[in-house]
Amino acid sequence: MCQICRRTLLAGERYRTWRWARRDQTVCVVCEPVAHKAGAVRVVDVYEYVQAGGLSQHVRRVA
Ligand SMILES: [Zn+2]
Repeated sequence: MCQICRRTLLAGERYRTWRWARRDQTVCVVCEPVAHKAGAVRVVDVYEYVQAGGLSQHVRRVA
């Protein structure tokens, strides 16, 4: 789910992880300018894709 527009991302949709409020947040492509304006910092350069099928975890890079 995009943390800005609260929309559930569709399978195959691109998103990236941005950090603000000391948390890593999922942001859809549409909302990236909003996140940037809000002072968020992009965590990764590469886009991630929502996996089709299966239970999607919002943050897979917890490690
Ligand atoms: Zn969004």
